[in-house]
Amino acid sequence: MATGTHQNQSSSIWTWTGDYLQLGVGFDSNIATHCQCVVQVPGILFHPLAPTIVPVQTDEGRNTATWSIPDAQLKEVLKSAWEELDPKSAEFLGNIGIIPFLEKTSLPYENLAGDKCLYVKDLPQNVNITKKGAEDNIDCYLCEKSLKLKDMRKHVGKHLLLALRDVEDPAPLRPGVVVKDIIDACGWCGRDGCQTHLIKKGSSISITSNCPYHYQKLSYKRALQSSQASPCTNVPIHCPICPPSLTGQPKSFWKYNALYHLASHHLTPEGLFPTVPPQLLVEIYITSKEEASVGICQSKTDEFRDFWDIPDTDGFEIIQENERNKRGRLDSTLVVQRPPKISRS
Ligand SMILES: [Zn+2]
Ligand SMILES: [Zn+2]
Ligand SMILES: [Zn+2]
Repeated sequence: MATGTHQNQSSSIWTWTGDYLQLGVGFDSNIATHCQCVVQVPGILFHPLAPTIVPVQTDEGRNTATWSIPDAQLKEVLKSAWEELDPKSAEFLGNIGIIPFLEKTSLPYENLAGDKCLYVKDLPQNVNITKKGAEDNIDCYLCEKSLKLKDMRKHVGKHLLLALRDVEDPAPLRPGVVVKDIIDACGWCGRDGCQTHLIKKGSSISITSNCPYHYQKLSYKRALQSSQASPCTNVPIHCPICPPSLTGQPKSFWKYNALYHLASHHLTPEGLFPTVPPQLLVEIYITSKEEASVGICQSKTDEFRDFWDIPDTDGFEIIQENERNKRGRLDSTLVVQRPPKISRS
């Protein structure tokens, strides 16, 4: 990324100093440097510029050349780059999650008068959310309890899982809260309406969210595994059935909302559930142990699995083993064919 450009006030031209910004967490990005790294970003983030070559003198007085770009051209490119990210769409937070991150930076650029230039003003409100720290105490939106942010996802997960299995919640819920009526509940706060996206770039995994209870330091890989200390595996996962977003990242949904996602996005024209790829089944599977840890008895777990034709632990382990050993086997799909809405007596 180029840096150190400055504006020539008389002609509104920016010239490049030949320096680069350092990208990534941990770099002191206020320091310009020589070109020293390769950054992989999706093609959608590339926008061609049409600079002209102009003569320039180095600090040592040597004559050389650099690029010069009209201010109007950069403003135009900034505008179209921003619009490409589709700021009004539900995928927007996921789209901005693919932009290379600068931890500390001298951006935005300043012109010779010291005015900040070339940045996006009027960010959507749901992007401008101040995130809380892991140890901050916050109130549960569903019950009267206060917890540290780092514990809220697990706590909310218990409310959600009990409601999914139709088991009475021992916690005194807030007046008017009916957890099973919350559609597409946010795994951070338990309410409907937050947007959370899982971003995978190579081996790195990050999560973007506009939820005020988004725990930015969540260890995703650890949260995937249910343990005694942290039984809740409700995390955002990618949907392999949805078409990918324009950034190439698959769409995300919370693990506990898997049935809701399949029912709301992927029913067949006959109103049946789609063929679920085994890898997705492995990702959305909730073990009996996890269910027991929040107070769901085995008979309730079995009842739910029977109803939805979900395999028991033995059947799940076979699928999981198959997935480990061999990916993409043509006959390894599992079909869930229950209709989404069947009233229970
Ligand atoms: Zn609560
Ligand atoms: Zn939320
Ligand atoms: Zn989907």
